[in-house]
Amino acid sequence: MSQPPLEVLNPATEEVVATVPAATPEDIDTAVARAVRAQPAWAATAPADRARLLRRFADIVDQHVEELARLEVREAGHLIGNARWEAGNVRDLLLYAAGGAERLNGAQIPAPGGWNVTFHEPLGVVGVIAPWNFPLPIAAWGTAPALAAGNAVVLKPAETTPLTALRLAELALEAGLPEGLFQVVPGHGSVAGRALVDHPDVGKIVFTGSTRTGREVMGRCAAQVKPVTLELGGKSPNIVFADADLAKALDPFSFLDNSGQDCCARTRVLVQESVYEECAALLAEAIGAVVVGDPADEKTQMGPLISRAQLDRVRGYVPDTADGFRGSAPTGPGFWFPPTVLTGEAADSPAATEEIFGPVAVLLPFTDEQDAIRLANATPYGLAGSLWTRDLGRALRVSAAVRAGNLSVNSHSAVRYFTPFGGVKQSGLGRELGPDALTAFTETKNVFISTESTEGPSQ
Ligand code: NAD
Repeated sequence: MSQPPLEVLNPATEEVVATVPAATPEDIDTAVARAVRAQPAWAATAPADRARLLRRFADIVDQHVEELARLEVREAGHLIGNARWEAGNVRDLLLYAAGGAERLNGAQIPAPGGWNVTFHEPLGVVGVIAPWNFPLPIAAWGTAPALAAGNAVVLKPAETTPLTALRLAELALEAGLPEGLFQVVPGHGSVAGRALVDHPDVGKIVFTGSTRTGREVMGRCAAQVKPVTLELGGKSPNIVFADADLAKALDPFSFLDNSGQDCCARTRVLVQESVYEECAALLAEAIGAVVVGDPADEKTQMGPLISRAQLDRVRGYVPDTADGFRGSAPTGPGFWFPPTVLTGEAADSPAATEEIFGPVAVLLPFTDEQDAIRLANATPYGLAGSLWTRDLGRALRVSAAVRAGNLSVNSHSAVRYFTPFGGVKQSGLGRELGPDALTAFTETKNVFISTESTEGPSQ
């Protein structure tokens, strides 16, 4: 049955950018069947040739960085500078993964009576389901290593942001990747996403999105004992001790980047109580100075939210009467919300523990190291976090005690394609990126080869 088309809106103007047909379950069947046909020849291609084609794909992406970035500004409201970085991230990841194709080494394990060797074999067809907050990088995080390891990929982008992913698929063909090897199938999550998850010929699902949907995807994968990687929500702490460089520690873009629609946003600002007032004053000044407006303007520092639904969700956490301070935001068309810091929230309130996914942080005081650790761990999430102190021993103790997949000490470092990334607790399962990214798209096969003589005992 046909599906209502996807209407892509420019979040800064609410104008329709494009209307895209939405895949039916039959379209997913067709795409998976094509991928099944394309994959064996790709897996049999010499690793150096797979690597060469992926490098060519990276070159073509590089030639289209500006075009992809402009498209991302229009469909997702990203700042033009950020969008260029995101398109460049796709290129970098393709280049990094390409090298992996030639280094997918197995092992030789000592065993009596023969040779024992392991192989990393591709899974076949991998389904990648992406969210709207970073459409380009997250499409590539799953796709690039999966292709490099010899798989075919069917990617379902988010309803609101299918355009850059569709363009990537065109660029892959232009680069010479075989037909059917990398397909992008836009559609509704509850129809096309679900059909991809349930498809028996899809060997693995890489899902990035909300914890709620991730739970459902994991349950459906469980029904088929299908491997799954989950990159889910976050509510990450920024732990600021009194001895820290407070101005650096309280960089407002640690939670305002991408208008706060960042799974790693440091939205719980935990500050030692002796410097609480100083920190509040620094944050108030910093967010008051943030330039919010047209994302295509190079001088803009924060753009709109993705959609009206997201705007309503964020508003729901910030009643007009809430204590705290706010920056400014445009009025009129577009999904605008001002940078906001809430100061009157209890540590266990919804605003302090749930993922808001907007430009809103909560400022909370702590007494000492143990209290900071307790507060940092007091959410169901465990994706990222920062901690700021000049005391090396404390930095090491706190990094060991905070339950998160990715921490930064005296830094708000972003995700790097060459280091592993992922969450603990309800922030996810498995890791992406980094040196081991390819093996997540393989099965390990062990083969024992007997060296026993077939000629019988020698005379
Ligand atoms: P979402 O869960 O609503 O949707 C994510 C994707 O899943 C979309 O493509 C959607 O169409 C699809 N989908 C929806 N229902 C489905 C179903 N039943 N079966 C299969 N697919 C389905 O998430 P979102 O609102 O698009 O993205 C925001 C969320 O993503 C936030 O929670 C954010 O923290 C998270 N996120 C996590 C990471 C990470 O690496 N941990 C990175 C970016 C975003």
